[in-house]
Amino acid sequence: MTASLAVTVVGSSGSFPGPHSPASCYLVESRIDGVSTKVVLDLGNGSLGPLQSYTSPTDLDAILVTHLHADHFMDLCGLYVMRRYDPRRAPDGPQVVHAPEGLARRLQLAYYGCEEPAMATQLDTRVVRDGQVIEVGSLRIVPARVVHPIEAYGYRFESPAGTIAFTGDTDTCPALGPLLAGADVVLADAAFLEDRDEARGIHLTARRAAQAALDAGGVGRLVLTHIPPWNDPEDCRAEAAELWPEVEVARPGDRYVVGG
Ligand SMILES: [Zn+2]
Ligand SMILES: [Zn+2]
Repeated sequence: MTASLAVTVVGSSGSFPGPHSPASCYLVESRIDGVSTKVVLDLGNGSLGPLQSYTSPTDLDAILVTHLHADHFMDLCGLYVMRRYDPRRAPDGPQVVHAPEGLARRLQLAYYGCEEPAMATQLDTRVVRDGQVIEVGSLRIVPARVVHPIEAYGYRFESPAGTIAFTGDTDTCPALGPLLAGADVVLADAAFLEDRDEARGIHLTARRAAQAALDAGGVGRLVLTHIPPWNDPEDCRAEAAELWPEVEVARPGDRYVVGG
């Protein structure tokens, strides 16, 4: 058997798009003996454009949304249009989207300004629950409730090739231990910096992201992401490197491959 698991960073900008990156979006691909499973994690502002250079957005096996902040889901409005009105081809059935409760209504209000059930013809939203495993093709996906001002999840993607984990937007919390443990690649929120951002319960600092990887017993590669345009990414890297010298910073187009 040949197996590989890969993540492509489509957008790594935190809170809103930057000049060089869309907001949150990652393409996760599992391949087993040539059979591919494609999942997109988050479809934040600006991400639907570059996503088209990596894959057809109407050809995904599932979409997962970490939480209902606009920088993580707002381009689902564009995907709705793409699916419903592209004259070249009509997709088979609606796209399954796993998300916290309330996504369908939020999208209807954003797009139509009122509740409009027609959106369900294209987007089949399903509610995510803490620890409730989602099976998609060759991927086993575990949602973990994390700490953020609204209901938010990190996700762990497991395949026969290995494991990739995303913290989603979160501060330090007990869920990060099992979420990150033994992962080959971890993409961690690092929006905050130690000496600048004192608020708690919102984001990890770069240092706290590195600490979470250490507390989980170590991980393969630690990659910082969700870095807002007002941060210098080098400041984030340097802060985390005090605890995790090999730490990396996600940029659009970066691809991390496990196995294969
Ligand atoms: Zn965010
Ligand atoms: Zn958020």
